[in-house]
Amino acid sequence: MIDQNLKSLQDRIRSACQRTGRNFDDIQVVLVTKTVPVEIVLQAYHLGCRDFGENKVQEWLEKKDALPKDIRWHVIGHLQTNKVKYCVKPVGAYGNTPLLIHSVDSLKLANTIHKEASQKKLTVDCLVQVNTSGEASKFGVQPNDAEKLAADVGKLPHLRLKGLMTIGPLTDDPKKTRESFRLLRQLFEKIKKSTKPEFEILSMGMSSDFEIAIEEGANLIRIGTAVFGARQ
Ligand SMILES: *Cc1c(COP(=O)(O)O)cnc(C)c1O
Repeated sequence: MIDQNLKSLQDRIRSACQRTGRNFDDIQVVLVTKTVPVEIVLQAYHLGCRDFGENKVQEWLEKKDALPKDIRWHVIGHLQTNKVKYCVKPVGAYGNTPLLIHSVDSLKLANTIHKEASQKKLTVDCLVQVNTSGEASKFGVQPNDAEKLAADVGKLPHLRLKGLMTIGPLTDDPKKTRESFRLLRQLFEKIKKSTKPEFEILSMGMSSDFEIAIEEGANLIRIGTAVFGARQ
């Protein structure tokens, strides 16, 4: 099942790329494994997938030891400051590559990560999460404050700001979804002018809206249900 789901996901990514003249290889897929049992995650691993994302630190900590070390882990959910210490570890603690934290949404959180990283003499890869949907239930810095937060994060020597992330709106209206992704893309282009070359990741698009995200410039999509099926 995972096998077929991955194939059809790849076909859909390929079509979205063709529609917009983009390169299939430029789209990085992070498989979101929340609520997915380790055995199923391993099936995807054995089919060649290496990027996996969890949105609850606790669940991730419970799973990671049973999974191979060459997985690249992505922290995609809201990160509470008291959980930061688990996410700031030397390469090798959880895998052979540094963790990417997608969800830096306040200077307070950035400072907490920075302090932990500085004490441990590490540099942490992160994205700034922007709330481009306007939905109150969603985390992320407001679009108007994104440039400022990115600039502040960029000044913290133990953080490496690699791009932006958003979660699309909960809607059936593709126009609203597109607007939300387009806004993140615009912010990305603007911020990119004043950041380092490593600022290159545009993380947007999930199972229900990744095609629109790719059309709007996403180069990292986060996919759960389209590969693993509906969550309980
Ligand atoms: C759950 C989740 C996803 C994946 O959602 P699907 O709709 O299952 O593809 C992506 N990003 C974040 C932040 C999530 O929490």
